Amino acid sequence: MLLLDNLKTKAMVRYESRFDLGNLPTDGKINMPRTTEPSFRQSVDMMFEKAVSLMDLSSGLQEKIRVCNSTYTVRFGVKLRGDIHTFTGYRAVHSEHKEPVKGGIRFATSVNQDEVEALAALMSYKCALVETPFGGSKGGLHIDPNAWEPDEMERITRRFAYELIKRDLIHPSQNVPAPDMGTGEREMAWIADQFRRMNTTELNSEACVTGKPLNKGGIAGRVEATGRGVQYALQEFFRHSDDIKAANMKGTLDGKRVVVQGLGNVGYHAAKFLSEEDGCLITAVVERDGAVVDDKGLDIEELSHYIRTHGGVNGFFSGEYVENGAAVLEKDCDILIPAAMEGVINLSNAERISTKLIIEAANGPVTAGADEILRKAGVVIIPDMYANAGGVTVSYFEWVKNLSHIRFGRMQRRKEEANNILLIKELERLVGKPVSDDFKSKFFQGAGELELVRSGLEDTMRGAYQSMQQVWHSRNDVDSLRTAAYLVSLGRIADSYKALGL
Ligand code: NAD
Repeated sequence: MLLLDNLKTKAMVRYESRFDLGNLPTDGKINMPRTTEPSFRQSVDMMFEKAVSLMDLSSGLQEKIRVCNSTYTVRFGVKLRGDIHTFTGYRAVHSEHKEPVKGGIRFATSVNQDEVEALAALMSYKCALVETPFGGSKGGLHIDPNAWEPDEMERITRRFAYELIKRDLIHPSQNVPAPDMGTGEREMAWIADQFRRMNTTELNSEACVTGKPLNKGGIAGRVEATGRGVQYALQEFFRHSDDIKAANMKGTLDGKRVVVQGLGNVGYHAAKFLSEEDGCLITAVVERDGAVVDDKGLDIEELSHYIRTHGGVNGFFSGEYVENGAAVLEKDCDILIPAAMEGVINLSNAERISTKLIIEAANGPVTAGADEILRKAGVVIIPDMYANAGGVTVSYFEWVKNLSHIRFGRMQRRKEEANNILLIKELERLVGKPVSDDFKSKFFQGAGELELVRSGLEDTMRGAYQSMQQVWHSRNDVDSLRTAAYLVSLGRIADSYKALGL
């Protein structure tokens, strides 16, 4: 029997009896259209059920953790281009075992209630795994951001923010959004300003949203954070010989062939750092309009610039253009990085995926059924709840910075520098030789905000990897890093609920 039948643990049987999953494939056929798959929300719940079935939690507590506490749907009108346009937005709050709750705001035409609820659940699990003190939330606006001019987007964003702010669904101590697909620093600055205008005496208003520009209360290193976290996650993976072996790989990141889907915020930074700093070859980039393939390795900076100016990869001067981008996901490689959207590796293509390691930079790119097929084929998957947690980790640092009203490193940087100069001078006096200028220039510098943020992020990514890796290898009933990640995270959320007296 293939895939989903094997996933039917006791907890899942309970789950299926609660939800109508009658359209799930159970006959082992995998070349099914995606409509036969569970929804994103159901896929997340199935992974959850698989993990809780291995835990000793009462069914009541399991249910409390699983359900999405609330979802607010708003329909609002904005007068644009001489007429009123109605937009639909959502803010889902999955778990409030810690507050504020945290999670991005997505602007895309794919946005719907099922999607925001799935993403909100992933946020709860992610925050627990990387030990950021937040519950999980997510928001979205059903819109094509490219269809509107910047000043129109500002009016739409401010109006959406107004609707959420007046219900405390954006608030420094209640609910703190961040960027996600289709949003970035610009939208976060508008939201922060909207909050300040509606709460003029709130001292901590900057902390109502993260991912802001540096000159509007942002933090150095937030834009790169999720991609940087993907890099740190892969570096940590390659420090563990057991894990390299489990993926049927050898050596280090150097020379590894990497395929990336989505060269947006997350995909661009991950591909840039892996190619420029770790020696990876980015052999293909899949975008909306197709893919560009070059086995010698693509120049990510050039390609990113090309996409920004031409709106896609078609016509890029190096490599070969392939119109059917989805087929390029199946290209033979060492590491596959889906960094665009959910559900792209599913029952219809999982068997043809030809990689050893998948790192889920996007949220939910591998469906529950595909996960099972790939695991059985020996592919190791570094799960989204861990892999893309760099964003929320640095958002946490930004939130703390906003609450403390001082940038990181401001008090200690020069003191650290003075200590280092003193140390080198004494060393030179003792050995009677000068230390090289190159070494001095690197060593003297005290850590500024960017260095501290990267240090905190690396520490978080390494620690969280080790906590799931330890569970993966120490328990025979844990068959994947994903299940291990759920066990670590759900254990922490359960402890938190128990401490609350629930
Ligand atoms: P983004 O909008 O900056 O980039 C998405 C990229 O994917 C774009 O280049 C877009 O053209 C491309 N794309 C969209 N649909 C595609 C398709 N069908 N095929 C190929 N390419 C496609 O978004 P982002 O912020 O980089 O987010 C990407 C993913 O990472 C999402 O799943 C998001 O939830 C997740 N994520 C983002 C952050 C963050 O800090 N931005 C943090 C955690 C997780």
